[in-house]
Amino acid sequence: MNKVNFNAQAYEKFYDFKDVMVQAFGIGCSLCGTEEIEYVYQNHPPTIGNLIKNQAKNLTDQEVDQLIEKPLLNWQTFDETNANQMIPTFLCVNCFDIESDYDEK
Ligand SMILES: [Zn+2]
Repeated sequence: MNKVNFNAQAYEKFYDFKDVMVQAFGIGCSLCGTEEIEYVYQNHPPTIGNLIKNQAKNLTDQEVDQLIEKPLLNWQTFDETNANQMIPTFLCVNCFDIESDYDEK
């Protein structure tokens, strides 16, 4: 990604219970690829780990698959839409700081 479309106000802290999305789906910072994701672009779908956590009971693997099928697609769509506009979906602290500095100049 060369010319990044960045607006610090448009990001919020990324919370995903037990880092499920990093562990299970291998997501990373959209710019440098590190797994240490700190920020996510606004209006994102619910994080997968939190979705699973919010279920009141223990789920079987099959139930988990069913539960996250749609949200995963939503995340893919979200990420693709952002990428098409050169918006990084996930950012680590470093990349966020670098882009913020760059933004102010
Ligand atoms: Zn990064």
